[in-house]
Amino acid sequence: MSPTNAIDWKQLAAGLRLDGRAFIGGERVAAATGAVFDCISPIDGRKIAEVARGDAADIDRAVAVARAAFDDQRWAGQAPAQRKATLLRFAALIKQHAQELSVLESLDMGKPARAALEVDITATFKTISWTAEAVDKLYDEVAPTPSHTLALVTREPIGVVGAIVPWNYPMLMAAWKIAPALAVGNSVVLKPSEKSPLTALRLAELALEAGVPAGVFNVVPGFGHEAGAALALHMGVDTIGFTGSTRTGKLITQMAGQSNLKRAWTELGGKSPFVLFADADIDAAVKAVTGSIFWNQGESCNAPSRLLVERSIADRVIEQCAAIAPRYAPADPLLDGTVMGALVDDIQLRTVLGYIDAGKAEGAACVAGGEQVRAETGGYYVAPTVFAGVHNRMKIAREEIFGPVLSIIPFDSADEAIRIANDTPYGLAASVWTKDLAKAHLTARALRAGVIHVNSYDEDDIVAPFGGYKQSGNGRDRSLHAFDKYTELKTTWIRLS
Ligand code: NAD
Repeated sequence: MSPTNAIDWKQLAAGLRLDGRAFIGGERVAAATGAVFDCISPIDGRKIAEVARGDAADIDRAVAVARAAFDDQRWAGQAPAQRKATLLRFAALIKQHAQELSVLESLDMGKPARAALEVDITATFKTISWTAEAVDKLYDEVAPTPSHTLALVTREPIGVVGAIVPWNYPMLMAAWKIAPALAVGNSVVLKPSEKSPLTALRLAELALEAGVPAGVFNVVPGFGHEAGAALALHMGVDTIGFTGSTRTGKLITQMAGQSNLKRAWTELGGKSPFVLFADADIDAAVKAVTGSIFWNQGESCNAPSRLLVERSIADRVIEQCAAIAPRYAPADPLLDGTVMGALVDDIQLRTVLGYIDAGKAEGAACVAGGEQVRAETGGYYVAPTVFAGVHNRMKIAREEIFGPVLSIIPFDSADEAIRIANDTPYGLAASVWTKDLAKAHLTARALRAGVIHVNSYDEDDIVAPFGGYKQSGNGRDRSLHAFDKYTELKTTWIRLS
């Protein structure tokens, strides 16, 4: 990075106005009870804001406002080209406020501000602008019926969309839901994670400034078992878009069923395999797997947390991974050039350290990291960690750690690699590395996951769907497929003769 574009993030952070109030009906409001909770920065463990502790009463209010906005068609009734123009202004405002949003994200959940700027904000901008651009280019269908009749197959907005999102990419996960939901004309009530509510609230202000009518996009911060459950159970919510853990995804699905049978779209956890054959470009593979597992402090749903290596090259790969890991050593997220920041909170810190202890106790060899670092800052940092000699039955190979921990598992044949790769309850992403074209295709075909990478990892773009098989969820975010989640399909039969 050239010094000319270096950014003084600390100065930006010092000048920020942090507002944790909810956003309902186009206004900042306190929770109905007046309750708040502390927003703690993982960078140093210090309180940075008080956030409205929304509960069922606030969700009721937001859903009522969203319903009224949908029913009077102030947004749904606009031409797609008009909604597109508004959402493009929204995207432009995000770009205009990119540094502010980046530092907010960093303070709130611990990722390097530079990473937030280059990845999260850029992808949020692209998600909203691409989706806006798409929405006035969608055509409906006429079914191939006999000539005496006409059947129109049309897509309509569903009504009130509930969105519940996690803390690892707070703004981007919100954008993956709100962009398609708003573009087709729905009203939205968004519940951000209690661990990272600040950018979602700011997004709602920017949407209003761009011209999204008041009441169309509402944000109620709060805890999962309070505001989140109230949203998932609400009889006035027509569909729910959820991203988070598999455990919570199961609860959301139950709540949808026990209330109004709203459709529940789930985007859940992962334990993604990275299959490395001996004939691959090993240096490139090691760079890709370490770059991906240590990106975002390992807090990525699709992180390649299991590196399956052909036994003949295992020692070399282990040595290279262990040598590279320290380059990702955590540092101050508000310094330009920091590549790894803080874990989101003390709970996540203890969870990750617990898994590291479990790996050691089960006999895996910790060849890099394996400990908390920077404890003197008051923040929550873990050294990039590599385990060798891992067996797929071990806890560190079976459960999603959601931290900077790589488990290396040897294999002897392609069949064994595929069996180990698929031996997981998850199916979000996978990768295969080989120079043999047929082997690449056959392995990619056999891997049970929603996103497969060949000789790459983390190719990522709004143009292609993202989502999982098995217990990694049932929905697809991004691309034109995302519109399916937020529209109803209507058939209209017209008798012609
Ligand atoms: P989480 O399940 O704990 O929380 C996610 C959201 O659900 C939060 O807003 C939380 O407040 C809410 N919630 C929690 N309990 C709830 C309840 N009982 N009722 C209603 N809402 C409730 O997940 P997390 O720790 O915030 O996020 C990490 C998880 O998200 C990981 O498993 C990760 O893999 C997954 N994730 C998946 C994707 C994807 O696209 N598949 C993307 C990002 C993260």
